[in-house]
Amino acid sequence: MAFSLAVPRSPAEAVRLLADAPPGGAEALAGGTDLLLDIDAGRVAPSRLISLGRLPWRTLRRSGGDLVIGATLPLRDLERDPRLPRDLPGLYRAVRAVGSVALRHRATMGGNIARSSPSSDLLPILLALEARVRLVGPSGPRELPLPELLKGPRETTRVPGELIAAIVVPARRPSAYLWQRVRPSNDISQVGVAVARRERPPYWRVALGGVWPVPARLSSVEAILDSPDPGDIAVELAAQEAARCAPFVTDKRATEAYRRRLVATLLRRALREVTVP
Ligand SMILES: Cc1cc2nc3c(=O)[nH]c(=O)nc-3n(C[C@H](O)[C@H](O)[C@H](O)COP(=O)(O)OP(=O)(O)OC[C@H]3O[C@@H](n4cnc5c(N)ncnc54)[C@H](O)[C@@H]3O)c2cc1C
Repeated sequence: MAFSLAVPRSPAEAVRLLADAPPGGAEALAGGTDLLLDIDAGRVAPSRLISLGRLPWRTLRRSGGDLVIGATLPLRDLERDPRLPRDLPGLYRAVRAVGSVALRHRATMGGNIARSSPSSDLLPILLALEARVRLVGPSGPRELPLPELLKGPRETTRVPGELIAAIVVPARRPSAYLWQRVRPSNDISQVGVAVARRERPPYWRVALGGVWPVPARLSSVEAILDSPDPGDIAVELAAQEAARCAPFVTDKRATEAYRRRLVATLLRRALREVTVP
């Protein structure tokens, strides 16, 4: 498969190259951990790759109570931030769930979101943390809540030429991410459960991965958890509701029934981890 490689120096140049794609189309290239496999397998055949490697998005900043994660920051750099395990334990655990150390030296959050996989380990915790996504495109910059970007597997609501520039989450929030998979690394999760506790009502955000078509928040589960310290009965009802209403399917990784049992167990554990002692 032949393609040309462009290495833009600015976001504006990258957007222009992506929007003015030659016949065959263009694809943005971040870490390449998904894209290069897709090209190799013939799932996509772009005639131009646009490297995001020289763009000023390999950054991590704290600003006004937010953590702003540059789209091309390797996940390994995020995981090494000394404040992350204490300030956002759920995000820390989710990042470390992705692949292996070697993979995380290349893989990025922008690529994970753009790929929008049902079994992503990052999307559930980003949804629970109420992440917002900053985009740049032919019509300029915009910011939108993550759920408005996610459309389906490998599908987002980005317009042609639009790139993810950064992801914004609260700088601190009690949170947890628990997952289950057959092998501990370089495998894909069967189910991922993310919870985050807010200071004010509504207190809880709960999101799942391993659901179809993309990871999603479960508002009916969140509604059951109406206190910062839900008792055993509320936790049990929430676990049962998550198992009941999540849109699971049977695939090569797990059966629908197994996923339902897993999610109830992991949600009970995650809520106990984050509940006020
Ligand atoms: C062996 C292996 C194990 C894995 N394990 C896990 C796992 O445990 N959990 C998990 O969640 N994922 C896993 N993955 C998937 C993968 O590593 C992640 O999805 C990764 O975060 C993708 O980031 P990337 O930078 O490599 O994206 P790339 O491969 O460079 O790009 C992926 C897609 O996103 C687009 N894109 C990239 N960056 C941007 C941007 N800034 N704006 C717009 N579009 C963009 C590309 O055009 C492409 O379509 C695994 C992959 C492999 C190969």
